[in-house]
Amino acid sequence: MPMIKADGYGHGMLECAQVFTQCGAAAFGVAEVVEGIHLRQAGCTLPVFILAGVIPQAVPDLLAYNLTPVVVDQDILPVLAQHAARLGKPAGIHLKLDAGMGRQGTLAAEFLELVAAVESSPWLRLEGAMAHFPMADNRQSPHSAEMVARFRRTTEVLRQRLAGTCCLHLANSGGLFYVAGAQFDLVRPGIALYGYYPDGQTGRDQAPPPLLRPAMRFATRVIQVRQVPAGTGLGYNHLYTTTRPTTVAVLPLGYEDGYLRLLSNKAQVLIQGNRVPVIGRISMNLTLVDITGLEMVKPEDEVILLGRQGAEEITADEIAAWMDTISYEVLCLFGNLNQRTYVD
Ligand SMILES: *Cc1c(COP(=O)(O)O)cnc(C)c1O
Repeated sequence: MPMIKADGYGHGMLECAQVFTQCGAAAFGVAEVVEGIHLRQAGCTLPVFILAGVIPQAVPDLLAYNLTPVVVDQDILPVLAQHAARLGKPAGIHLKLDAGMGRQGTLAAEFLELVAAVESSPWLRLEGAMAHFPMADNRQSPHSAEMVARFRRTTEVLRQRLAGTCCLHLANSGGLFYVAGAQFDLVRPGIALYGYYPDGQTGRDQAPPPLLRPAMRFATRVIQVRQVPAGTGLGYNHLYTTTRPTTVAVLPLGYEDGYLRLLSNKAQVLIQGNRVPVIGRISMNLTLVDITGLEMVKPEDEVILLGRQGAEEITADEIAAWMDTISYEVLCLFGNLNQRTYVD
């Protein structure tokens, strides 16, 4: 079950769904009903799981578009049953067990009660259950192994009652790579499908080949090249002052495009195969880089903010480290705030 929420982690939900379908995906995972509707309207016929809970107002669409709700507690059950009865077709549902994430779902102690509530309605058809790991990317922690055991123990009742049709799913990318026994009937990788390890550069450094290949590249073009003398304050607040005659390339991109202010005076970009530093404050639509010594650079030259150019590569993990975040956030920001083109 490829996870294609957040517009496919910034890569485009519909385009990703098409590729993953060709690759043999069994189902898709999204957060909200509206995403499922877009998938159906684009012709997707695979099961689509709504993983972040369903509000009553969304139930008519949920059923009309044949989406599978992951039910987090009993509150939604009467609404689901009522609309399913109106359509004359039982609603297939999965349950969300909070087996250790501590975020959403039903605790193990209350799970049986939830199962009983579902089974008490002829218009609800229990099909499976899931839980989510909070730290499967941490290979040192014993938490994930404990969670696998709790998930297995708590869902045993479904295995018995649903016999061959019960569908259990637990693993995200970290669970798939690092947690023994986490595979169950379906796995829900997200970040790995986009070419990154859930534990970032550490994961890449320690992974056996073949390594995952990042799918996303983020590029722009130089809009101006200028020379400024030593002692010139650059941009807002003069966050950077030149200490020597400096050649500056101006880039037509800024925090509006997800190239966050946090990256001011920190990030690097690739121009003509060279790594050069971002200098000064990143503004809404403009960013400056120091290209002193690269006298061949001219307006319209390609600049790589994320990805490969020549022998150099800047990964989302590296950018995430500059931003004190994780690759996931970098991919969502860059991918969802900019024009996407698909190659290969
Ligand atoms: C996002 C998500 C995943 C995928 O996680 P990755 O770390 O990207 O592999 C799996 N399951 C659920 C419930 C999710 O929300």
